[in-house]
Amino acid sequence: SLRMNIHLKYRKTSSTNCIDLKEINMKIVKTIEEVRNITSQWRAEGMSVGLVPTMGFLHEGHKSLIDRAVSENDRVVVSDFVNPTQFGPSEDLEAYPRDINRDAELCEKAGAALIFDPEPSEMYYDDCEAYVNINSLSDELCGKSRPIHFKGVCTVVSKLFNIVKPDRAYFGQKDAQQLAIIKRMVRDLNFDVQIVGCPIIREADGLAKSSRNTYLGSEERKAALILSKAVKLGEDMAKSGENDAEKIVSKMKELINTEPMARIDYVEAVDAISIKPVKKMDGAVLVAMAVYIGKTRLIDNFIFEK
Ligand code: AMP
Repeated sequence: SLRMNIHLKYRKTSSTNCIDLKEINMKIVKTIEEVRNITSQWRAEGMSVGLVPTMGFLHEGHKSLIDRAVSENDRVVVSDFVNPTQFGPSEDLEAYPRDINRDAELCEKAGAALIFDPEPSEMYYDDCEAYVNINSLSDELCGKSRPIHFKGVCTVVSKLFNIVKPDRAYFGQKDAQQLAIIKRMVRDLNFDVQIVGCPIIREADGLAKSSRNTYLGSEERKAALILSKAVKLGEDMAKSGENDAEKIVSKMKELINTEPMARIDYVEAVDAISIKPVKKMDGAVLVAMAVYIGKTRLIDNFIFEK
């Protein structure tokens, strides 16, 4: 495995609340066995472990999760795995951007202790028969156009929990349905891990950061702003007291349709916990969208809580 030296001076550790002057050698490992050896050693030494699951090509959004994890745990594992089971047959698995060296640099600077970068063959037996599925929550929103997606996500996240055994795991609100599904999976299957949701990180002009933004040409990049503009419109309507979720959604759709390069997959208002469609902005409501800009499918959302 590759080894990198980082010196984390004066870092406060969460469990002991004392100064940790120990040098952390960030490692990039490719085998489950090595991850288990390292993390079990940490646990034996009484250290807390945070996990940040990613598909790599890291950006400021991922970094915000890693920063939060570093501030709350003694050691942080970042998994960097483009998970084949969450991609449909006509999706962008092959095209998905990858750059492990750049990812390693970002993780090292952020203070992560380990990158887990397995090959698909390390994660999946050829004759694998066990998968983790979650009902109803997977059928709405992204589940309609990506029917196997959340089964792949739940399976790989379960496997990562079993491999790393983290105290806490960090997920972005950017993938709001994924976060709701993981929280429900952890509750329903009694995983012994705390799920921490982190806010959406955006570009200066509002576009939610995403590894997939690299697919956008310069005209498409401008057109992509329609998503965050629609989020802003919907959020402003909700904040100013509009209680009719359907009205908010239809105004957002109207705005998105003014952009010729945009094609709506869905814009919907759902209960933020059950992911069931709602008509009124009561309780915690997730207003989420997926919009194609050219061939690139982008997502964005807001949660409104009265
Ligand atoms: P991905 O590599 O796209 O699978 O994302 C890995 C994690 O980073 C997921 O929990 C995402 O929700 C989170 N994430 C991705 N983009 C952002 C963003 N712009 N802001 C906050 N979290 C993000």
